[in-house]
Amino acid sequence: IKKIGVLTSGGDAPGMNAAIRAVVRKSIANGLQVVGIKKGYQGLLNEEFIDMDRHSVSDIIQRGGTVLGTARCMEFKTEEGQQKAVEICHQYGIDGVIVIGGDGSYRGAQKLSQHGINTIGIPGTIDLDISCTDYTIGFDTAINTAMQAIDKVRDTSSSHERCSIIEVMGRHAGYIALWCSIANGGDDILIPEKYDFNEQKVIDNIIDNRKRGKTHHIIINAEGIGHSTSMARRIEAATGIETRATILGYMQRGGSPTCKDRVYASMMGAYAADIMTQGKTNRVVGYRDGKFQDFDIEEALNMEKSIDEYMYQIARIL
Ligand code: ATP
Repeated sequence: IKKIGVLTSGGDAPGMNAAIRAVVRKSIANGLQVVGIKKGYQGLLNEEFIDMDRHSVSDIIQRGGTVLGTARCMEFKTEEGQQKAVEICHQYGIDGVIVIGGDGSYRGAQKLSQHGINTIGIPGTIDLDISCTDYTIGFDTAINTAMQAIDKVRDTSSSHERCSIIEVMGRHAGYIALWCSIANGGDDILIPEKYDFNEQKVIDNIIDNRKRGKTHHIIINAEGIGHSTSMARRIEAATGIETRATILGYMQRGGSPTCKDRVYASMMGAYAADIMTQGKTNRVVGYRDGKFQDFDIEEALNMEKSIDEYMYQIARIL
């Protein structure tokens, strides 16, 4: 391995820049050359490359988003697209690619590896929904951003004695909702893994809470359940309590990464550079059982992960 590429793919996440920086600097320290590939697999197919040196990643560790840009690329899902990508890699002397993204991005990395280009994946997503790892880049920043926003909504909600539905990100996974529910003292939590679509239970809970003298009622709703605005209307009609929906949306994906996201993303980037240098391929970096490790991509994609039952129960009780 002499020369590698690094790209970010799928949804952006705060901390991706810290990972890019670490990949670049550790690879250079290991004696490799590095090119940055713009806009994910699309940029690979469009030959959008930039030579990276230590200085090229200066002043980015504190920035949200990804300086390389990211995209979703349909062409790369086809055999022809993958073949073309491999030819481009050969043409530019790129022996390996480090891919920062989610499960979909790993599938792409797996295909490149099957065609003889070494690949290493790094988990980048605010949703925490990658099975082989207890940590994904951006989750910590996202929950802290959401937590602060929910605190603010709670202030006004309790002043006006309202019920608030706050919708947080997580289309298929309720981790952000779960963490915020505990951190913000949510009274109800609706997540795709658990919700039984029994709105009456939520309504009864609001009425009981009000009888016990609570001035507000906070419902943390995951994006995967959605429909917060219409739910608010139905709850208001059923309880007579003023109910408002707040959808936090993309603000959760942006902003300066937290210390944890900077440090873990840096460690994962460096780790990926090291195993790439050793000639490993078709691997994904994870943080599990208290340490950084790597897994076979196929194995990682087949692993299962579910919401911690005890944590969910605690969120409901507290
Ligand atoms: P997120 O969950 O944050 O959106 P992701 O990495 O899962 O991240 P996807 O949009 O699923 O996001 O995948 C990113 C890109 O990876 C796709 O646009 C495509 O180019 C490539 N990709 C996804 N699945 C495959 C596949 N089966 N084969 C080849 N490439 C794929």
